[in-house]
Parts: sequence; C-alpha cells; structure tokens
Amino acid sequence: MLREKIKKASIIPKVGDIVEIEKTSNKTGVIIDVKPRKNELSKPNIANIDQVVIVLSSYKPDFNSLILDKFLVFYQSYNIDCIICINKSDLLDNSLKEFINYYSNIGYKLIYTSAKTGDGIDDLKQELLEKVSVLAGVSGAGKSSIINRIDSNLKLKVGDVSENLGIGKHTTRYVSLQMIRYKNKNCFIADSPGFSFIELNNIESKKLSYYFREFIPFINKCEMKDCLHLHEDNCFLKKNIDIENNHRYLNYLKFLNEILEIEKIKKTKSSKIENNIKIFKKSDGKNIKIIKLPEELRDKSRKFINQNLKKLEKINSIDDIDL
Ligand code: GDP
Ligand code: ZN
Repeated sequence: MLREKIKKASIIPKVGDIVEIEKTSNKTGVIIDVKPRKNELSKPNIANIDQVVIVLSSYKPDFNSLILDKFLVFYQSYNIDCIICINKSDLLDNSLKEFINYYSNIGYKLIYTSAKTGDGIDDLKQELLEKVSVLAGVSGAGKSSIINRIDSNLKLKVGDVSENLGIGKHTTRYVSLQMIRYKNKNCFIADSPGFSFIELNNIESKKLSYYFREFIPFINKCEMKDCLHLHEDNCFLKKNIDIENNHRYLNYLKFLNEILEIEKIKKTKSSKIENNIKIFKKSDGKNIKIIKLPEELRDKSRKFINQNLKKLEKINSIDDIDL
C-alpha cells in the first residue's frame, strides 16, 4: 500500500528502493516514503545498484571489445560501477587473455570464470558480498550457468520466472532481488534481460570520453573546452595515445559517430517543434508559448471557438437564469 504523499509526488517505488514503512498490523504496512535513489535503471527496473557484473564469454559468442566498451559506457553513464566477468575461461587462449587483461590494467575489476569447471566462481562471489549487483551480458555468454553456480537455489527462481511467462529465459519481464548468503554475509543479485544491442541515445557527445576511464587524466588538458578528441587542434588526449591502434579510442570514435548522428536527428526534430511554437508577450511581461496548429486544424479550432462564443452570448442574453 502506498501513502498519499508518495502518490502525490508520483513516485513509483522500484525494486531496490530504500523506503520508510509504517506498520498497520503485525504483518502489514504502508510505504510512507521513498528515499532518494543513488542511481536507477529501467532495464531491469531497479534502483540503488552498487554494481553491474558484465558477463561476456571468451568463445561462442566470441569476446568483442566493442560490446564490452558499450556496456561499460552505458552503465557508467548511469553512475554505476562495473565489474567485468569473462566466462568460459576453460576455452580462453592466452593471447586473448593478454588482450583482455588491458581492462584490468586500466583499473577495472576483471574476473575470469568457468561455469563449467567452477573456476573463478568464488572470486566472483567475493565481489558480490554485501552489495546489490545486477548481472548483465549478452545471451549465450553463460549468465544463467553462472547464476546456478553461484547458488543452486537461484536456479529455480530465475528458471521459474521465465518458464511461467513462456517467453524464453532471456526476456524476463520483471525483476526481483535474490538474496544469497556467502561467508555469513548477504549478497543481493538481480538478473537483467540479455541485450541484443544497447542504445547510447541518452549520452551527450561531450561527455562520452569521461566514460573511458583511462582518458580522464588527459581530457581536461585539451585546449578546447568540450573537446570531442576528433579533429580539434591541440587535443591532449590524441597526443598521448596511439590513435591508430588503441582499440578503446577506435571504439570511442564509433560510439561518438553514433551519438553525433542521434544528436543531429534530435536537433532537427526540436527545430521543427520550435518552428511550430509562437511566443506571445503577456501584459505582465511574461512570455507564453502557443503551439501553432496546422492550417486545417486552425480552421476547425476557429469554428469551435466561434460556436462556443455564440453559446456564451446566448447564456449571457438570458437575464433570469435559475442557478
Ligand atoms: P546465458 O544465455 O548467458 O544465460 O548462457 P547459458 O548459461 O544458457 O549458457 C550458454 C551455453 O554456454 C550453454 O550451452 C552452456 O552449457 C555453455 N556454457 C556456459 N558456461 C560455460 C563455461 O564456462 N564453459 C563452457 N565451455 N561452456 C559454458
Ligand atoms: Zn581532446
């Protein structure tokens, strides 16, 4: 049950919310307040996440740095810490491992697991201690197998939800936080639907480079404010990294292109809307915005107003009106 105050503020409590409850009986209560959220996601619909564990596999599906970087950018833009989990370590070759280790060198927590052999699962569990974690990743990377390895009781819950809905196990529609105990501590885990692609449409081009953590020390030394590290002169970042071979910079450029395209579309849309808005100055000096209707609707609305004016005239012409 929700109290009026929350309803009025139109806050819809989410999984993960920290709330204040007023007891109405021994077993029931009402939510009287939802505490401010430190972050929130819509897929899955959950708040106050401590970290996202991005699960990718070394093989089938093959590891792909573009996908990993996109996940990293996406979650960091929501102010959520990320842990990288590379599963199917039993199939990982050394040269790929060396390449992936780059992420550990730039400061990410990186864990190799094998849901098949159980390798690394305890390391992962250690990272989940006393935290609220969302497991995300591409389908087929072994997320369900890892969840089952973490705690076989979780297996039932994850499987049940999906089977009941009959929509395949990676299209879980609602989210729940499952609690597991490890080393006498609580860990809260939520599953997230497997993504086929991630959209970056809420990220501003000028902020993108901040989500590439190893770029940060250079960014503020670029000559241009809001440097996009693209064609600008005296770009400190470009001077300090190998722009032809640094795979993260190349991925950055791909995302930047995507975001610039999105921004272009948004701009044309908003200028179309702007063109349809007329601004009037009221007698008190304040501006009011009026949406210009298309010609045919303008005719209709004039007719409608005239009809109503006539009705009003009729009423006003009757002096003795019973109220
Ligand atoms: P999900 O789609 O991410 O939930 O992936 P699943 O857990 O369903 O696993 C996809 C496939 O990969 C299944 O055939 C699993 O048996 C297999 N798999 C999962 N983890 C491992 C692993 O660590 N090593 C190997 N070799 N195969 C794995
Ligand atoms: Zn720059």
